[in-house]
Amino acid sequence: MNAKVSGPFTLPSLPWDEAALDPVISARTMSFHYGKHHKAYVDKLNELAAGTKYAEMPLEQVIVAAAKDESAKKIFNNAAQIWNHTFFWNALKPGGGGKPNGEVAGAIDAAFGSPDAFKKKFAQAAVDQFGSGWAWLVVKDGKLSITSTSNAGTPITDGITPLLTIDVWEHAYYLDYQNKRPDFANAVIDKLVNWDFANLQFKTAAQRKAA
Ligand code: MN
Repeated sequence: MNAKVSGPFTLPSLPWDEAALDPVISARTMSFHYGKHHKAYVDKLNELAAGTKYAEMPLEQVIVAAAKDESAKKIFNNAAQIWNHTFFWNALKPGGGGKPNGEVAGAIDAAFGSPDAFKKKFAQAAVDQFGSGWAWLVVKDGKLSITSTSNAGTPITDGITPLLTIDVWEHAYYLDYQNKRPDFANAVIDKLVNWDFANLQFKTAAQRKAA
């Protein structure tokens, strides 16, 4: 996503209307989460990167390079949060959820045994992430697994391709679910995850490996 975009970094458009995920994620949550939080990461990265080598890099390159640069922790945090949020929005859609489809459905069965077993494990990763972070369905060498990252952490720094994610920072759910993170995670998996997007990421990972 946005692999060719160099600084100044921009806030990508949402793939649907701000109210489209209501009531699973309300328009009010989206207005803060996208309009304030996601935007703030973009503004902050532009401020921090100005005049540095990072201002000339595409976003994914900023993330990978800043992850190895002790002096660029703030740049990493803001860049990774921009990428993670853009990925999250694209991994959701109104009327999503339900059973996995396409090639990912077979990979889910191979890795977890069944869609239900996958769902339990993905929701558990979201619930068990202590404090702020992200739960991820990822693919490496054709095999799916579930992982989580803290704060701005993102699997792409380890060369791992995400297929889906759930933002478990409190700002993602507090207005709609208060402290009930499990309800939020289950509702996102049941009603919003975009299996077409997951399949697209899965194919892209396979092509990258073959190249
Ligand atoms: Mn967030």
